[in-house]
Amino acid sequence: MNEETVQGIAKGICLYHQNISKQKLSQYPANLQLAVDTLIVNCLLTGIEPLQGVPDFLNRWAKQPLQDWDLDINCPEDWHSKSLVEEQKPSNFCVETAEEYLEEYGNFQRKVVEKLRLKSFCDRDLYTKFRQYIIEHPVVIKGILEPDAVNKFPSLKKLLQDCYEPAPESYKKDRNFYCCGHCGGLMYLKSDSARSWGFPPLATESRSDGDLRCENRHCLQYKKKPIPFKADSNDLVLWLKQDLRYFMHRPGKPEVRLFNKLKKLDLKEVILFPNLDIYDIHLVFPDDTVWAIDLKFWESAYNLAKKVDKPIARWKEQPYDECFFVFPDEIKQYGKEYIQEFRSYCTVPLKKSQVMFEGAFMQKVKRKWSKKS
Ligand SMILES: [Zn+2]
Repeated sequence: MNEETVQGIAKGICLYHQNISKQKLSQYPANLQLAVDTLIVNCLLTGIEPLQGVPDFLNRWAKQPLQDWDLDINCPEDWHSKSLVEEQKPSNFCVETAEEYLEEYGNFQRKVVEKLRLKSFCDRDLYTKFRQYIIEHPVVIKGILEPDAVNKFPSLKKLLQDCYEPAPESYKKDRNFYCCGHCGGLMYLKSDSARSWGFPPLATESRSDGDLRCENRHCLQYKKKPIPFKADSNDLVLWLKQDLRYFMHRPGKPEVRLFNKLKKLDLKEVILFPNLDIYDIHLVFPDDTVWAIDLKFWESAYNLAKKVDKPIARWKEQPYDECFFVFPDEIKQYGKEYIQEFRSYCTVPLKKSQVMFEGAFMQKVKRKWSKKS
């Protein structure tokens, strides 16, 4: 049992979830069935009690960290503590591990970014303004989105409208929508953990008394109060489409937060998504030293390391002196091991001083800045 087995299962789970979401539900995808069959055979060979098929796998092992499975899996160190299913959905780790699925999952986001780059070619601030709008408005009423699209982004009106769809009614609690107090994303009602994954709620089941949860599970640690979303009963509430929530809003929150903290330091220049997003943040110190930052919000350092195959690109007009990979505070509990895992598997050679969490990076900037001013 190795990495490929886990990848096969991850792909199957993602596909299964996609089918449920599109209401194409019926059978389990063939690759999921096949991967679980492999697990069953291995259980039998090892002499442990075998799984009872896919539903049993989804409702037991898939929810447990890989290290708690009855079988030993030969996989990267930082996968051991991760689970494939959380809150009846593929976990972020599962999505990251499912490789091609991750590519497919990001299709719409890539189209948005392509169009945005094309349209912002002569006005690069427009690119950043648009991305910031998306990050700051994960949920919005139609009555605000429409005039914003016309007034703030006349050349990108259609593209902005296309980024949103009606918020799901099932996310309401007592007839109201709630937003996460940490990231602002729409919250859903935590489902009854006793219910099996993939089965629709029972007709008699009351959904109004569940706990509210953010799609980004890292928000939970901040214990912020959910914020009721203000809307009249005749307002149409919209939220970002799935891959924009995952690829733009989720990492975008810490990107904008770090940008705002750096702005306060009175540096010579701080640019968010410079040169149509060549990297995330561009910093110029009073002594003209240039730093480039790429912020990465991934569950598994190993998965991220495999994805990063080139150094951070250089901006020809303003080449950086130093560049950094920064991980958001939301995952700082992953600690030094995360940084080590990333550096040891990344094919791009990186010094220890180039990879760190957000807090350590802010201190580094402050140290450099105070020496010069
Ligand atoms: Zn949140």
